[in-house]
Amino acid sequence: MTVAYDPQNIFAKILRGEIPAQKVYEDDHTLAFMDVMPQGEGHTLVIPKAPARGLLDADPASLAAVAATVQRVARAVKAAFAADGLTVFQYNEPAGGQTVFHLHVHILPRFDGVVLGRHTGGMADQGVLADHAARIRAALEAA
Ligand code: 5GP
Repeated sequence: MTVAYDPQNIFAKILRGEIPAQKVYEDDHTLAFMDVMPQGEGHTLVIPKAPARGLLDADPASLAAVAATVQRVARAVKAAFAADGLTVFQYNEPAGGQTVFHLHVHILPRFDGVVLGRHTGGMADQGVLADHAARIRAALEAA
């Protein structure tokens, strides 16, 4: 069964400017911002501006724009945190682990020997997230 897109989801509200986010990158088709409950420092999300619940209902052009932004932001995240590697993932529907129903891709810098934190664990300090967002924006500008 197909579930309809709900325009009241939290990421749609971020796109409309109704709730704040620590933004790192924006273009005509995509937005990237810090995850408020990071699974590690530098945990960043990339979303399309076009409404889509997940991978399966997204317009292919929107998906292509998301993929390009994921690559651009992932390079900056890796540089900003001097990471050894990256983990990139995307969940679909509650059974797949999705909790916010606007398509999004997670980008996490990874470090040798450091285990990934819990999904939707604790809220991060806003000052820390603002600092991390600034580091990623600086890396994007330097790219
Ligand atoms: P999902 O489980 O749907 O793949 O992940 C949703 C992600 O969104 C989680 O990692 C969660 O921490 C993050 N998140 C939930 N609410 C908010 C919010 O209001 N702002 C931001 N920036 N991230 C959120």
